[in-house]
Amino acid sequence: MKPLPWKAGVGVAIVLLACAQQAPADDPPAYDVMFKARLLPAEAMAQVSIEIIQASHVLRALDLNAPASRYADFSGDGSIAVTNERVEWLPPETGGVLHYTVAVDRLRGGVHDMRLTADWGVFRLDHLFPRANARTLVGAESTSTLALEGPVDWSFETPYGPANDADKPVSVINTKRRFDRPMGWAIAGKLGIRRDRIAERRVAVAAPVNTGFRRQDTLAFLRWTLPTLIDIFPTFPSRLLVVGSGEKMWRGGLSAPASLYLHPTRPLVSGNATSTLLHELVHVAIATPAAQGDDWIVEGLAEYYSLEILRRSGGISERRFEDALEHLAQWSTREDGRLTDPSSGANTAYAAGVIQRIAADLQSVGQSLDTVVQGLIDTAASTGALDREALKAEIERAGGSSTTLEKAASETRPSQDLR
Ligand SMILES: [Zn+2]
Repeated sequence: MKPLPWKAGVGVAIVLLACAQQAPADDPPAYDVMFKARLLPAEAMAQVSIEIIQASHVLRALDLNAPASRYADFSGDGSIAVTNERVEWLPPETGGVLHYTVAVDRLRGGVHDMRLTADWGVFRLDHLFPRANARTLVGAESTSTLALEGPVDWSFETPYGPANDADKPVSVINTKRRFDRPMGWAIAGKLGIRRDRIAERRVAVAAPVNTGFRRQDTLAFLRWTLPTLIDIFPTFPSRLLVVGSGEKMWRGGLSAPASLYLHPTRPLVSGNATSTLLHELVHVAIATPAAQGDDWIVEGLAEYYSLEILRRSGGISERRFEDALEHLAQWSTREDGRLTDPSSGANTAYAAGVIQRIAADLQSVGQSLDTVVQGLIDTAASTGALDREALKAEIERAGGSSTTLEKAASETRPSQDLR
């Protein structure tokens, strides 16, 4: 299709305003987006297309965060401007397609956190379809679908359900965004998959065959713990995908929207009674990342609740729960743990202790940390920020004292000390 001319700056704003005034208030301007990716194992890359379908010029421009080191071969309808870090696409008035390729494999610290082999692929959808600023008519909404393809005998699992049939793409529903793109972990290849419905959530546990991932153990653990977790975090997503992987992948757990990754060597419960799977599930439940400087809040909550959920669901005794918290306290003392961003290891052990003290303070006035955390998540969902001010406000709203929080936060270690 013929590229449309594009006028930048004030002219654009005037055009958008004029169009917005023509749209009836009860009928928001809408457009459809079809996200497709074909996995090419031999090249460890994916051929991607983003197709816009619109009757009128609702979506004017997509400005993709697509560094040249990973994204290449841009082509398609309309106007495409590629710089080193970003790609600006101006689709034609009636829509069109943008094609590109993306390297799937990604190394972090000598191991992969995404990988495409001859037999399987484990990757993030938000990596294939990068973040983009959308310029649209005011109030525009998108309806998005996703289809994945690859070798003929492969299957494809996503947080939105199986994406095996290119003729029947799955619906991508996050929140009402101007540009709703697929997010979270996905897995492809010759897979073993176990599905179940737990606490009214659709759960899938998927891993490549012959990689030693314990799908049924994982599903049993989820059946046992997820109802307790969802009591605490009622806004937990309606679907959950757990992906396992094979060799040369990160030997831990990683969370993403409505999904998490778990290495097959990770025990469901460690010797010190903490659980990588429960820790990552709490991250999935909290959903909103911490504000800059306050990563310790979400890490502390994830570590504390991974123990608390096991205690409440009967997986560990009161005594083992107390011993596990004591173990974390000793670790943080030994290695001088502090509230930090990013938080990991002894620093997260310290953060879990702060959360434990806040929970005890609340209990002493007949209140529950659960209520505070639910308020915190609700606030974060509406404001987009999860920070210590919001935590303080929720503690005080529940009738608790924020003294513990303020004392601990006053000793926060600046993040640059860690780097
Ligand atoms: Zn974590």
